[in-house]
Amino acid sequence: MGPPLGAARDSGHGGWEQWCPTCGQVYVVGAMVWRCACGGLLELRGPLAAEPVDPGAPWSLWRYAPVLPPLRAASRVSLGEGMTPLVAAGDGCWWKLDFLQPTLSFKDRGAAVLLAAAADAGVEAVVADSSGNAGTAVAAYAARAGIAAEIWVPEGTSAAKRAAIEAHGATVAVAPGGRSAAAAAARDRAEQPGVFYASHVYQPLFVAGVKTVGYEIWEQLGRRAPGSVVVPAGNGTLVLGLAAAFAELLALGLVERAPRIVAVQAAACSPLSGAAPRGETIAEGIAIAEPPRLAQVRAAVAASEGVVATVEDHAIVAARADLARSGVWVEPTAAAAWAAWRDRSRPPGLPEAGGDVVVVLCGAGLKKPA
Ligand SMILES: [Zn+2]
Repeated sequence: MGPPLGAARDSGHGGWEQWCPTCGQVYVVGAMVWRCACGGLLELRGPLAAEPVDPGAPWSLWRYAPVLPPLRAASRVSLGEGMTPLVAAGDGCWWKLDFLQPTLSFKDRGAAVLLAAAADAGVEAVVADSSGNAGTAVAAYAARAGIAAEIWVPEGTSAAKRAAIEAHGATVAVAPGGRSAAAAAARDRAEQPGVFYASHVYQPLFVAGVKTVGYEIWEQLGRRAPGSVVVPAGNGTLVLGLAAAFAELLALGLVERAPRIVAVQAAACSPLSGAAPRGETIAEGIAIAEPPRLAQVRAAVAASEGVVATVEDHAIVAARADLARSGVWVEPTAAAAWAAWRDRSRPPGLPEAGGDVVVVLCGAGLKKPA
């Protein structure tokens, strides 16, 4: 349902709360709320953990449970997500193979934490909208948590994608129209009592899960930050997650500076650079013309002294082939990040060779075989 009645100070989440930067309203973690009563987008905040790593935790993103809202151990659903390889790619660059997750995309990080919080709150049904990886991730983690899921997809979503969602026991609902129609249908559905909106865009718990990729990179590099991180940006979840991780590590004195964030978009759809959309792109995962958190993502890139890079589809195709010939097969959206790094002549501000760079590869090639 929509915004709950009134503020709710939370005593059960160790000082963690969701809050609205627009008006200051505070909400309980895991509440049936996905945006503020004022319409503002929610963010998550909580006390800093002195030590981010729980060495006794299972080998999954719950290794970083100290930097996540506390949840009962029984609620911590897991499919072994996270802990993905960081592979030296030469030339001062690493590939973060973040597509090596249970449903083959980084979205599993966010889905794990979001569905865990939903389970902790006693949620029995979730609704989400997606044309791709987020829907599959939410369906899988809802199945793991024993929560019913209904995933709204746009008209024209491929049979293969629908089958992947349905295989996890989720209901696929087709919204007449495009991606925004699917989102609107899911939000309508979430207005009904007892239905939790498991949105990868609106729910800050999703970003909290994605944040663990930053902690992993830090730990894999020997508890230090790289000079730069290069990530695809559609709704900007990876940008926000990485920015949050390194801001926390900086506040804790565990890194000397946060990495510059290079946010990569397809030239045909780059709201971060302020350009009007022009046609289709093969990087469908980042083809988001009006991302709700645009201002927040832009601010995170700027605060990191990073840049927005745009890449043409032909460069994405070439980068994808280049990666595949190196043994790494990713979907076009992930290849966009490699395309930006490969073409260091453009835009100004991209890291130089030998510049200590991590390129996050977020989705597997099997997601889009052709
Ligand atoms: Zn508000």
